[in-house]
Amino acid sequence: MKIRFIEPGNRPYKKTVLNYFVYDRYIRTPSVGLNTLATIVKREIPDTYMYSESISGINEKDVLDADIIFIGIFTFAAVRGYELADYYRKNSRATVVLGGLHASMNYTEAVQHCDYVLLGEGDDTILPLIRAVSEEKKPSGNGYAYLEDGELIHTGMPEAPTDIDVIPDRDLIHNYRKMVGHSTIWPQVHASRGCPHNCDYCALVRHFGHCVRTRSPENVVADIKYSIDYFNRRPFRLLKGLWITDDNFFADRDWAIEVLNKIIDSGIKYKFNIQARYEVGFDDEMLDLLKRAGFFELDLGIEFVDDDSFKTYHKKSTKTEIEEAIRNIQRHGMAVRGLFILGSDNQKKGCGKDLADFVIRNNIKGVLIQCMYFVPGTPVFERNKDRLLHTRWDKYNGNTVHHPKNMTPYELQLENIDASRRIYSVPRLFKALFTEDFLHKILFIGEFFWHMSVRSDLKKELPYLKSME
Ligand code: SF4
Repeated sequence: MKIRFIEPGNRPYKKTVLNYFVYDRYIRTPSVGLNTLATIVKREIPDTYMYSESISGINEKDVLDADIIFIGIFTFAAVRGYELADYYRKNSRATVVLGGLHASMNYTEAVQHCDYVLLGEGDDTILPLIRAVSEEKKPSGNGYAYLEDGELIHTGMPEAPTDIDVIPDRDLIHNYRKMVGHSTIWPQVHASRGCPHNCDYCALVRHFGHCVRTRSPENVVADIKYSIDYFNRRPFRLLKGLWITDDNFFADRDWAIEVLNKIIDSGIKYKFNIQARYEVGFDDEMLDLLKRAGFFELDLGIEFVDDDSFKTYHKKSTKTEIEEAIRNIQRHGMAVRGLFILGSDNQKKGCGKDLADFVIRNNIKGVLIQCMYFVPGTPVFERNKDRLLHTRWDKYNGNTVHHPKNMTPYELQLENIDASRRIYSVPRLFKALFTEDFLHKILFIGEFFWHMSVRSDLKKELPYLKSME
């Protein structure tokens, strides 16, 4: 049996010098989730391999004679994923399976493009599906959606997997070994899944659930070591950092402390950053441990900078608390990066400037700004689906995609561009060059060019948004 995994790229990988300093245009770090599934399958099916359009093209010839092709999609890459799925269904004899967050939460749409949708995370259900396909049977048990005589069959959501101690085999991904020289690709480790919180716009918690599941600290540290060694084969990378990509690493506090102590005891000397909720900024014991373990930066999902928006979207935080948390993190010698959303029902024209002022005032080192978007399956999607401009999922990557309450879509897009321009201005670039440490100098230069590229994409959407007025 021959199995191929494909991670579609919103813009498939293209070789360009831009890739050395602009992330997310023609290059991204490949998906840890799909790599994990490929690793699980490889244990049973030796001829298993993966292509990620984040870092390479797809070897057509190799994929066309596969028995099963798994395609994992996030929302922003769904259009490309469907295009590939349609192509392989038409041109090969393979069974085509779509999975990943978007396909699972939007299975009624995804099932039109494939033979099966793999629901949920897939760790425990992927091998039973392969066995069923090899025996030319329908899969039994929860975890699948498919069409039978035109009727949609949904076998029920599977239990979330509890044994997640899998170290993804990076060598299963075509070209990965060659691509690790790019500073825009970071080693990544995902150590836990699930989050006890319930933010209205969060698709991840709907996909991974509220029950927090963790990998053993030994397994996490082994993965970190392997990942660092993998990337250190290319010694000339400007940025040597590892990103812990958990959505809420600190949800199980005792476990998080154990992992950090294991990293310290292991003697690993590396720079880490990690996503976190702002509350960790009040946990001095945790912050001390993070600093000692080598964490240089916390990526806070701040989302909004006004209390009304926090209330509207059931985010339990206030602007004052967040600012206090940021100051405490900085007091512990770590930097803060912010993830923000623009276009809430409470925001008005000028929200881009407010966001930039907040970032600059609080010395936030870098930002990711998204216009409000809604993934099917989230409470905000159900409440707002009538306000969507379209469902061209490839545009759900920062662009305005809905009618905001107090602005036009065009105005919201301009606010996003304005915030980016203020934060990544030329004077601030020079300031970073003269005042930041080496790592943040390099990061700011990279992000300066990255945001130029983001703004250029946002501007391309302006004529369409203007036509909506
Ligand atoms: S805390 Fe983060 S991961 Fe958890 S529900 Fe909110 S946005 Fe999602």
